[in-house]
Amino acid sequence: MKNITILGSTGSIGTNALEIIRELNNEFNILALTANSNYKLLAKQIKEFNPKYVSIGTEEGYKFLKKEFNDIEIYCGKEGLREIGKLDETDIILTAVSGAIGLEATIEAIKKEKRIALANKETMVAGGDYINSLLKKYKAEIIPVDSEHSALFQSLLSGKDKEVKNLILTGSGGTFRGKDLEFLKNVKVEDALKHPNWSMGKKITIDSSTLINKGLEVIEAHQLFNIDYDKIKVVIHPQSIIHSMVEFVDNSIVAQMGVPDMKIPIQYAFTYPNRMQNEIIEGLDFMKYSNLTFEEVNHKVFRGIELAFFAGKTGKSMPIVFNAANEIAVELFLNNKIKFLDIYKIIENEMNNHNIINVNNLETILEIDREVRAKLRREYL
Ligand code: NDP
Ligand code: MG
Repeated sequence: MKNITILGSTGSIGTNALEIIRELNNEFNILALTANSNYKLLAKQIKEFNPKYVSIGTEEGYKFLKKEFNDIEIYCGKEGLREIGKLDETDIILTAVSGAIGLEATIEAIKKEKRIALANKETMVAGGDYINSLLKKYKAEIIPVDSEHSALFQSLLSGKDKEVKNLILTGSGGTFRGKDLEFLKNVKVEDALKHPNWSMGKKITIDSSTLINKGLEVIEAHQLFNIDYDKIKVVIHPQSIIHSMVEFVDNSIVAQMGVPDMKIPIQYAFTYPNRMQNEIIEGLDFMKYSNLTFEEVNHKVFRGIELAFFAGKTGKSMPIVFNAANEIAVELFLNNKIKFLDIYKIIENEMNNHNIINVNNLETILEIDREVRAKLRREYL
């Protein structure tokens, strides 16, 4: 039995992970769960999965859970999340919180030399260099959960590192694929939240509609696979069946395919290097998808990838600014404080005004992240 800890068990990735574990309960045991404010769902999950430890973001939730459960250890707030990252009994920790808030707990888990099933891409974007330096020192392993990176991870098993010519990330194109700048000027939050293929949390759904998500994934791929930015390509593939591909030096391309269901990459990160049958995962019927198509990215309209390449290639502190500015811009858009296209403007402006510095410790990452957030909140709220 492997002990699983889930950071963000009440979210889209978290609940998918619990569905897998419910089926494979002879293989996996839930050790710890965390949520931010949704203590009611967390309480339900506690009753079903019986974890030894939980953490909740809010005081209100903490009080409720303390009253309800007296035989488990309950933590609260940011510190609580970090404590859960430190648990010795964990075998695999799934990082499925949304945003760079997951960074500290991930770092604790690396120091404890755990397997990290990484969904939380913002962590790798903001802290990638530092995380990679820790991975040289500690015997932790990161298995990607993001569907593109899981696909790349699986496809990379077909060749050697030096035989890789390009990593080709696929993307659905998001809710507004094919639309122009005029159309995007006045789009509403509800429209941006309607993703054609994937059902996900709000933040990543907005990121998909701006293609910032694909941009974050470019940086994530660079950090996870140690590949030059010049060797990372993006192609739009509206059906989301090919989850990404690796082109090798002999021009052979290896792709990973499947229905668009996050349960596949989540489970693979749990079972790797093995695979397991699971009745709840649907097979791919090629006849239903007889038309797989590919398009170029329209960088003039959707600037998310271009901005990410700039942040990634500049490196040092720039990816932290890119990520933090985006997190706040998305929050502002979701709260109707700014318009859709302002998201790009805010990120670009923050990056242009940033004085780049070297980043080789956690304190510096957190400080830059905090500064950008505070500045934008002051300006817009
Ligand atoms: P959701 O918004 O659905 O869930 C986020 C989870 O994190 C919830 O459990 C939430 O708790 C918790 N959380 C949010 N903010 C905080 C905080 N400040 N402190 C502690 N916990 C917090 O997100 P998703 O599941 O969609 O995404 C999670 C991560 O996985 C993101 O980094 C995303 O980019 C990545 N990812 C997601 C994919 C998907 O299909 N959804 C695909 C690929 C990557 P509560 O419910 O209480 O608010
Ligand atoms: Mg993805």
